[in-house]
Amino acid sequence: MSIKILVANRGEIALRIIRAIQELNYEAVAIYETPDHESRHIRIANEAVWIGDGPRSDYLNIEKVINAAKHSGAIAIHPGYGFLAENPLLAEACEDAGIIFIGPSSDVIKKLGNKVTARQIMADAGIPMVPGTKNLSQGDEGKQEALAFAEEYGYPLMLKATAGGGGRGIRRVDNDKDLDEQYLVARKEALAAFNDDSVYIEKVVVNPKHVEVQIIADKSGKTVHLGTRDCSIQRRNQKLVEIAPAFHLSQELADEICQTAVKAANASNYTNAGTVEFLLDSDNNYYFMEINTRLQVEHTVTEMIAGIDIVRTQIKLALGKELIFDQKDIMLRGHAIEVRINAEDPKNNFMPEGGKTISVYRSPGGYGVRLDGFCYQGFTIPEEYDSLLVKLTVFGWSWNETVDRLKRCLTNFVIAGPKTTIPFYLNLVNDPDFKDGEFNTSYLDTHEHLFNYEEHSSEANKLARLIAEIHHKGKNTYAA
Ligand code: ADP
Ligand code: ADP
Ligand code: MG
Repeated sequence: MSIKILVANRGEIALRIIRAIQELNYEAVAIYETPDHESRHIRIANEAVWIGDGPRSDYLNIEKVINAAKHSGAIAIHPGYGFLAENPLLAEACEDAGIIFIGPSSDVIKKLGNKVTARQIMADAGIPMVPGTKNLSQGDEGKQEALAFAEEYGYPLMLKATAGGGGRGIRRVDNDKDLDEQYLVARKEALAAFNDDSVYIEKVVVNPKHVEVQIIADKSGKTVHLGTRDCSIQRRNQKLVEIAPAFHLSQELADEICQTAVKAANASNYTNAGTVEFLLDSDNNYYFMEINTRLQVEHTVTEMIAGIDIVRTQIKLALGKELIFDQKDIMLRGHAIEVRINAEDPKNNFMPEGGKTISVYRSPGGYGVRLDGFCYQGFTIPEEYDSLLVKLTVFGWSWNETVDRLKRCLTNFVIAGPKTTIPFYLNLVNDPDFKDGEFNTSYLDTHEHLFNYEEHSSEANKLARLIAEIHHKGKNTYAA
């Protein structure tokens, strides 16, 4: 009987993982909630299990996910990213049920998922990080601790949810008044979002670059890195564009950061694939931020420059194999850029455009182009889930070639129906700072002209709308 692996996710990442499972000649079991009943991940999987109406609550229901695995005879679960991926209770439930969890152990996920615990482990291992507090005490006492920290280290500071993730639960405070106002709000928000009201405070790195390192470790104790990524271009502390390798880093600095990442992984007994995130200041000082104990959305850019299938590797390691390569075997070459094409209106604070139907979908192709998506013409984007439609990843030998290729792809990419981030990225690839690789996490705030474009201004988009209108005339399904 063939080995079955359950994919506890949806959208593009479910497809990505299913492909790796099927390439290994295993069978992929999908799960889905009702709003996803027309999603492609169900059709490409070897079988699919309906787990409820959701929305989201069933993808987050550990018991249902485990039952789906048992019911289908899956021996392993890949959690993807988001949903239960960083919930130690899923990994623990797998361990209890004798199912292989494709990721690190529940113990490692638990330790690293708590930003304060993770900082402590890294501090003990001598990893550089910005000054910060432990969890602040409850009530007024906690606020006094924060004020005392501010007195000692000065503003600006970051108030962070200890259990936070996905860019949520982070608030910058610039003075005592901000701190006074934001403190309780931050706690309440953390409780609502993460079911844990713990917060702590750390020093802000001003206009940093977000630099992260992909690491992979097997159970024999071998840990390798696959180089750096720059994910500085963000909205609301969430990544939009990712680049590998990180730009404008000297080889010495890149090597040092990668070595530090491996040290951080070893300090936490890390196994399987993970990402060590750092902030880099304008004087090239770098500071540990967190370890994400899962596959990252932007793993595609690393795969492009390293020539290693990270998901295939994750599965092999989880099924008990050891790494077949050493650090010296890993050759990074060229440049890769990923843009997240979201159903969002950049001009309207990236407001999600869920609920709309894709009336025309024409994607680019050719040398150095990779698409990880799950949409098709006629697909109505469920409004219940996140707005990522497709990741466009391009590869090139030089940075210039890569940017040229990205521009060509974006020009030819037609998605009609919902507003998307495509016209915003078209401005991005023409921006001199972007072309020079000059960006940090405040890039969007300092480049307002990126938001100046006319909707559907390109020839291709005009044509697409025309086709869409003709195509849907009489069917009355065209959503303008
Ligand atoms: P999450 O778990 O939500 O990903 P992170 O701690 O990784 O949270 O931070 C997300 C983003 O917030 C970073 O990429 C960066 O842009 C910003 N950020 C976080 N901490 C700091 C800091 N101390 N100084 C400056 N920016 C920060
Ligand atoms: P196999 O012949 O064992 O199926 P491949 O030669 O197809 O393996 O392996 C190539 C890809 O699979 C690479 O992307 C590599 O990262 C991954 N891979 C294969 N075997 C392993 C292993 N034992 N440990 C980690 N990754 C592996
Ligand atoms: Mg992060």
